[in-house]
Amino acid sequence: MSERNRWKEDEILEMLSSIQSQAPPHHFEFHDPFWVLITTIMSHRTRDEVTDAAARNLFNRYGDSVHLSKAKYEDVLSLIGNVGFMTVKAKRVIEAARIIEEKFGGKVPDRLEDLMTIPGVGRKTASVVLADSFGIPAIAVDTHVHRVSNRIGWANSKDPEATEEQLKKIIPKEKWVGFNPMMVEFGKKICRPVGPRCNECSINAHCRYYSKIRQD
Ligand code: SF4
Repeated sequence: MSERNRWKEDEILEMLSSIQSQAPPHHFEFHDPFWVLITTIMSHRTRDEVTDAAARNLFNRYGDSVHLSKAKYEDVLSLIGNVGFMTVKAKRVIEAARIIEEKFGGKVPDRLEDLMTIPGVGRKTASVVLADSFGIPAIAVDTHVHRVSNRIGWANSKDPEATEEQLKKIIPKEKWVGFNPMMVEFGKKICRPVGPRCNECSINAHCRYYSKIRQD
């Protein structure tokens, strides 16, 4: 039976509502497309509160792509503090600002293909920008979304891109915006990489992984 047929829309909606109640999503402080882009580039392998602080520092000094594109690397490095891979990210955010200025006339593009021409911007980051700042339906699949979706049984794939395709077949389109932050928080708090809290999980009755461990 295909995933589209196996899952009924009502069941998915009930699960999404349950996930959201159990782990309300974290939203970064900025919603302007440029700052969603910059914050998302900095957020990789970095705790949310560290990313928030770095974005705040950077934003206070360089309020837009015009100014950030001309920033000095050492200055940006000192402002973004403790984000993971800070030396790479300091270069990337300046470069992203420069490309936004030179190639896109100072406006963050609202097409996946254009966003992905910016160094350091992959499919996941581009999808976050589309959904979180433009409100364009897109599902960003990061490590949490990939793991949780495959545990639940919404997807059956080792590859995040295939997981995204499978999710798009069963998650109602009006739920794509906001899906990533919700699943990320759920993945951090409940469906953790190691030691998922299955007994406390409000959707365990629907979960393939939980059904399997109860049988073993
Ligand atoms: S039951 Fe366990 S594996 Fe399934 S979604 Fe909940 S925490 Fe994750």
